[in-house]
Amino acid sequence: MRVLLLGPPGAGKGTQADRLTAAFGACQVSTGDILRKAVEDKTPLGQKAAAIMAKGELVPDALMIDLVAERLRREDCRRGFVLDGFPRTLEQAQALEGILKAMGSELDCVVSIRVPEAAIVERLEGRRSCRGCGVLYHRVFHPPARDGVCDRCQGTLYQREDDRVETIRARLRVYEERTAPLIQYYRDRGLLKEIDGVGDVDEIQSRIRRAWGEARA
Ligand code: AMP
Repeated sequence: MRVLLLGPPGAGKGTQADRLTAAFGACQVSTGDILRKAVEDKTPLGQKAAAIMAKGELVPDALMIDLVAERLRREDCRRGFVLDGFPRTLEQAQALEGILKAMGSELDCVVSIRVPEAAIVERLEGRRSCRGCGVLYHRVFHPPARDGVCDRCQGTLYQREDDRVETIRARLRVYEERTAPLIQYYRDRGLLKEIDGVGDVDEIQSRIRRAWGEARA
């Protein structure tokens, strides 16, 4: 499986990538998760990225491209990968093409997950993540059994700094300007599959698997 999930923040890319990789033994390359870990560990990358992420802006292309190139070349990606959160700019998309070509690989398809803006704000505002294992919850749609505590590892749940309303708006603007043009980019390459991202998590997972199956047929 070599799939790219494309969509605005809050489209459910992380949740869906999680499930796909678990089911198909592929590796999940989620640049947001990698960056958040780097910020937490105060690595040089994390120190550069922290302020940019808090404002909802994009980390420079050169940093992101190096990071993804290194990640995709690791052994565990040989069995396949699901990219979530990368590419986010045309430059990143072009670089990805080069990285994959150099590895003798290419994408099976790009699944674009469509969600209306009002639903996105509601989803992101209520989103909570576990500090321990990273599992995602939602205050209303997918609450944990015990308030603020992860069902899986008993870790503490927190709200991402960039999931506050003002930053959500900034991220959506950045998405429209920098990332949405990638939909046409991949359509032109015959790789695009569009799905409706509204509904039950399992149903959306089925739509993605169906789209992937069609792309390989
Ligand atoms: P995400 O978890 O995918 O919403 O990413 C959180 C934040 O990390 C974004 O708002 C950006 O600041 C940064 N980020 C993640 N992926 C990228 C990327 N491919 N290019 C630039 N910045 C990124």
